[in-house]
Amino acid sequence: MRHYRKRVLITGGAGFIGSHLADRLIGAGHHVICADNFFTGARENIAHLLGNPFFEVLRHDVTFPLYVEVDEIYNLACPASPVHYQFDPVQTTKTSVAGAINMLGLAKRLRVPVLQASTSEVYGDPQIHPQTEEYWGNVNPIGPRACYDEGKRCAETLFFDYHRQHRVPIRVARIFNTYGPRMHPNDGRVVSNFIVQALAGEPITIYGDGSQTRSFCYVDDLVEGLIRFMEQPANEPGPLNIGNPAEFTIRELAEMTVRMTGSASSIEYRTLPQDDPKQRQPDIARMRALTGWAPTVPLEEGLARTIAHFRTRHFA
Ligand code: NAD
Ligand code: UDP
Repeated sequence: MRHYRKRVLITGGAGFIGSHLADRLIGAGHHVICADNFFTGARENIAHLLGNPFFEVLRHDVTFPLYVEVDEIYNLACPASPVHYQFDPVQTTKTSVAGAINMLGLAKRLRVPVLQASTSEVYGDPQIHPQTEEYWGNVNPIGPRACYDEGKRCAETLFFDYHRQHRVPIRVARIFNTYGPRMHPNDGRVVSNFIVQALAGEPITIYGDGSQTRSFCYVDDLVEGLIRFMEQPANEPGPLNIGNPAEFTIRELAEMTVRMTGSASSIEYRTLPQDDPKQRQPDIARMRALTGWAPTVPLEEGLARTIAHFRTRHFA
């Protein structure tokens, strides 16, 4: 059978996850259109794709409408690290909300599936553990994280209303902490911070006492999950948790990073930021049942690959 080359739009395609998704889709023989305003994305992330005739880049802000003809849309545009999304909180909410309206409008006109990169942050500081999709969350609507959390929650509302009202085929993926090569070295997320600090021989900054937990998913596993969710024949809208259920304290992550880099860095304790969730672990039973997906890369292996990337890109 002749291979059908899909045209796939990725908003935020020059970012960390978006650029890995672009690699996978190009590798599978599809045509990728990347729309990005380069707020937190980098040309370096997609430089290797620029000569490919089936890869296009549009400098575009998703808060404005976009007119393209595509077969699928992955809506990833939005700064993801607390440092970046709190830099211009109004723009963060606009990106999530107006970006969702614009991408849903596009999907409605074209009658194509659209996947929303939602987040475990919709659960806020969760009071049930692990988090299942039924849980409605515990989010402070007026705190410093609200621009991101509430923006993503409102985007989910829009996705489900376009689905119910206009029959748009949606997929809402609740992504849990994801890490890997191409994370922005200064974006303040814990994995990149610890690796950069360890490689620079600077103190590792643990916020609070380090007993808070996160569950870290390697980017290749995450991308595989997003593609399986998009391509599932059942047209299930979700929401579906996608992440790695292996849970670690932040102190364990710090110790593992120091050991694996062979660093002489000390550990320094800093104030815990306001509304920092105390625990987080995805229940992935629904995603597993629908697509057969499960993460395959343990933290130690993914960290080794990420450390190797940071060494060559930022410390060579
Ligand atoms: P990232 O910051 O590396 O990528 C986001 C991309 O979106 C960047 O290239 C940025 O320039 C672009 N962007 C931001 N605002 C835009 C706008 N208004 N118009 C067009 N482009 C814009 O972050 P990431 O980790 O790759 O995250 C990708 C998506 O996944 C985000 O929507 C994020 O909320 C979601 N997500 C990520 C994680 C994670 O752990 N990495 C967890 C949950 C959800
Ligand atoms: N964190 C930390 N040191 C850092 C950066 C982050 O201890 O240098 C903590 C942070 O307070 C949070 C966890 O690590 O408890 C994960 O933070 P990140 O910003 O990566 O993601 P999120 O809080 O959005 O899950």
